[in-house]
Order: sequence, then C-alpha cells, then structure tokens
Amino acid sequence: MFDRKQLDYIKSSIVELQHSVAQHAGIKLLIKREDQNHPFISGNKWWKLKYNLEAAQQQGYKTLLTFGGAYSNHIYATAAAAHELGLKSIGVIRGEETLPLNATLAFAKSRGMQLHYVSREAYRDKKEEAFIQKLHDQFGDFYLIPEGGTNQQAVKGCAEFAAQLNAEVDFDYLCLPVGTGGTMAGMILGLDQQTEVIGISVLRDGAFLKEEINNHLKNFSDTVYGNWHIKTIYHHGGYAKTNPQLLSFMDEMNTNHNLPLDPVYTAKLMWGVQDMIAKGKFRRGSTVLVLHTGGLQGLQNDL
Ligand SMILES: *Cc1c(COP(=O)(O)O)cnc(C)c1O
Repeated sequence: MFDRKQLDYIKSSIVELQHSVAQHAGIKLLIKREDQNHPFISGNKWWKLKYNLEAAQQQGYKTLLTFGGAYSNHIYATAAAAHELGLKSIGVIRGEETLPLNATLAFAKSRGMQLHYVSREAYRDKKEEAFIQKLHDQFGDFYLIPEGGTNQQAVKGCAEFAAQLNAEVDFDYLCLPVGTGGTMAGMILGLDQQTEVIGISVLRDGAFLKEEINNHLKNFSDTVYGNWHIKTIYHHGGYAKTNPQLLSFMDEMNTNHNLPLDPVYTAKLMWGVQDMIAKGKFRRGSTVLVLHTGGLQGLQNDL
C-alpha cells in the first residue's frame, strides 16, 4: 500500500453582507468565505489540487511540476500542498528571476519548491511535447499539473465542492471569478440546474471562456447546461490590471464590510456583483451567493 495523505481542510463560513445596494434591490447577499478553507492552499485552489494530489500519490509520483507567473496563487498553493504531503515540487516560472524574490515566490521557495525560470517566449510552448520532454530530461519523473491547475481532476474537485455547497445553503445564483474556467465548470456540474451560475471574467476578451467551459462540461456529462453565463465587462483592463476605483472599492469592502478581497480575482467579482445588483439583474427576493475563491496571498506583494 502506498502512503496517501490528504490536505487539511477547514470548513469555511457563509456570511451575509449587509450592503445598501442589496437591501434596495431586495436581495439576500451571501459570501462563502472559501478563502478560509486552508491557511496556504486557499479557495478554489484547494479543490483544484485535491484529486491531482490523489492521482499523483496513487501513481507513485514523488514530484509535482507546474507552471505560473511570479504572483500566481496556483504556484503558491502547489508549493504548500507538496510540502504538506511530503512531495517535491518544481515551479516553472514565466520570465526572468528578479531578486529579492517577491512574497509569492519567497513563500514557494520556503516550502521547498524548486523555481525554474523560462523566458516569456519559451513559456508560450509550455503545452508542447518537446518542451515537456526537455523538462523531463532535466528533472526526471514528475506529475504535471497545467498552468492555473485546470484539468479534469480539478473540475472533479470543484464539482464535489459545489455539491457540498448545494447541501449547505439555499441560493438562487452563484457568482464567481473566472480565469481559466475550470472552477466554474466544476461548479456548474456539481450544483442543481435550478441555480444560475454567473462567472465574472477577470481577463480581457473573456468571450472564449464559454467554449472552454463547454469543453470541460462535455468531458463529464452529455447534459446541455443552460443555467450559466459569463460576464465579460468587469475585467478592469485585463488580467492583474487594476485602477484606482477598483483599489478603493477593495479598501471600502474591507473597512466597511470586513471583507478582504484580492485585486486580481475577487475584487473584480464583487465589483461585478454589486453592479449587477444595482442594474436589477437579480430577481427581487432571491439569494445571491458569492464565492470567495481566495487569492489573498497576493496582497503580500507590492502591487
Ligand atoms: C485561480 C483563481 C481563480 C480562477 O480559477 P479558474 O478555475 O482558473 O477559472 C479565481 N479566483 C482565485 C482567487 C484564484 O486564485
């Protein structure tokens, strides 16, 4: 028998946000604080890693290898998860090394992650056979987790989370941020089809995400799901881009509502939710559940 370990998990709370916009619209606004499910492997990353870690251990791998930018929540979480389970980890990082390391990469290194920098040009080939073969030549055997952690195992983990959430609380709408769409696909699969799932794209030109999510859904089910859509107007300039309005909104949510948000994902999510409520996109009398997907580690970096 192999020695399979599981990540620690803390059941997170659901809090009601008393926001005047929601009160005027007659909406109950709930936040699932899944950012609090683990101190280092937080939010959706916990669920995206769950079955990848299980598969890696089951198949006898000793090393995880994955990809990400220098501020990546996924790199941070993977380093912590590998450390917790006694696996080695290698992070293939986009771009040149900059010293001193930022808080994200310093943490990853402190958890034993070996950081391997590749140029932005080379990084574009991260899915190519030849590129991965070169990594094998250099690092030997490893379990590969794609950039952002999205693959079938990740979708499976998020579907499990969605089913758990569905049993925990009643809600009519689920709102979440979307990067690759892996989390959203899992949520759609795991909820019942009465719930409307609304994804807020944090990328500029997020329209392509619809097809990505459809492809993930098809891997699991023949059902045609009509209960979801993606909002593409709340990206604030694109991935990891911010502006003063977004940053002061973040501040306000933290100060007045005790809700810490990160600028890359969850601030854009809450901004979008607030705007949609103000514009009457949710039925009066309904419950909107907002999924806090984590990412607060990013606040330790100077933006
Ligand atoms: C990675 C991440 C997302 C995006 O998840 P996808 O499955 O790639 O869509 C959303 N929120 C936070 C905080 C994240 O770290």
